[in-house]
Amino acid sequence: MTLKAVKGFKDILPEEAKKRQRIEETARRIFEGCGLEEIRTPILERTEVFARGIGEHTDIVEKEMYTFEDRNGQLLTLRPEATAGILRAVIEHKLYNKSPLLKLYTMGPMFRHERPQKGRLRQFHQLNVEYIGSGSPLADAEVVFLAYEIVSAFANEDDLILEMNSLGCPKCRPLHRKDLVLFLKNNVEELCEDCQRRAELNPLRVFDCKNEECQTVLKFAPVIKHYICPECASHMGKVLDALEAFGIPFVQNAYLVRGLDYYRRTTFELKARGLGAQSTVAAGGRYDGLSSLLDGPDLPGVGMAVGVERLLLLMKEEPEPRRADLFIAALGDEARTEALYWIGYLRRQGLKVEYSLEDKSLKAQMKQADKAGARYCLIVGEREMDEEEAILRDMKTKEQEGIDLDDLPEILVEKIKSQGDE
Ligand SMILES: [Zn+2]
Ligand SMILES: [Zn+2]
Repeated sequence: MTLKAVKGFKDILPEEAKKRQRIEETARRIFEGCGLEEIRTPILERTEVFARGIGEHTDIVEKEMYTFEDRNGQLLTLRPEATAGILRAVIEHKLYNKSPLLKLYTMGPMFRHERPQKGRLRQFHQLNVEYIGSGSPLADAEVVFLAYEIVSAFANEDDLILEMNSLGCPKCRPLHRKDLVLFLKNNVEELCEDCQRRAELNPLRVFDCKNEECQTVLKFAPVIKHYICPECASHMGKVLDALEAFGIPFVQNAYLVRGLDYYRRTTFELKARGLGAQSTVAAGGRYDGLSSLLDGPDLPGVGMAVGVERLLLLMKEEPEPRRADLFIAALGDEARTEALYWIGYLRRQGLKVEYSLEDKSLKAQMKQADKAGARYCLIVGEREMDEEEAILRDMKTKEQEGIDLDDLPEILVEKIKSQGDE
């Protein structure tokens, strides 16, 4: 039996890696342009970081984490999301002492043991942003702005739907929770098993249920927007005003909740039409309570994650084909050795130069030059060495000219670089 990758874990082959590079480069440019700094935390954390940070009674912690004991009996988990680990790092290194507002980003793999399907893997990749230290509604708006900028760089803006909601705060949320729990109790027979359990442990999560019968019942459930306090309402209003000023269209969705316990006030999802069931490309919200859950100071924060695999589904255009500046086809030992000197020189000058590692016929080498997408091909064999003149072939026009071996590398650099400027 041949060995295969683990189910839900995928090899990223060169063609797809190129697309991912484009996503990462775009994200980095947008993030750095807005004054964010990169942070990289380990993919492995103590299980406690997520159990406390995300909440014991969430689907993620209950059934989706890759958790195991290491050889010392320490309980560890592959990170299912980025925020809890970043907060852990911010608290551990007291980064909040350096600056009252930390604007951080990271990109990398996350792990959840979910049923694999299109656009959903067990090792998946995210671009993450965290604004830590500010309770300003402008921080929320900036985070949404960043999500929108990145996704709209790869998707048709007409296909995007930004949904906004407020989850209230510890002052107003309990009032809603009380009524919701009562409502769920009165309708318990019509709810699925999962929702019956959620009703006890994490009632807000019932709104995440995909079961149609549950959805019908929940249409009549109390929604949080009728309960939020004046402060939460004012915060929401300012976030939405800022989005309008940024020119970002949105709709309000009173049923939008997040699977993570630590969210407060602002929550949002950016969805794309045409992605089917996995339509959410980016999501996030405010998590003012998270830092204290992890024994840190009372730090407000807001963040978001973009799903890279979803973004890949939205990218229509194919990646650019390979393009070398020059292919050197050398024949015979003497020419091949001389060619290596030129190749080293030209590559150090920043040119993309390829050649054949095998001693092949001219025809085979020309074929390889085509495959490499070479702009020029330099041909040099025994005769060219004797005559001290190599042949440079323009692969587009098919024109050929002789190049004096004496100043060959300098001539090529000048010729190819001036080509690039045109
Ligand atoms: Zn409130
Ligand atoms: Zn249900």
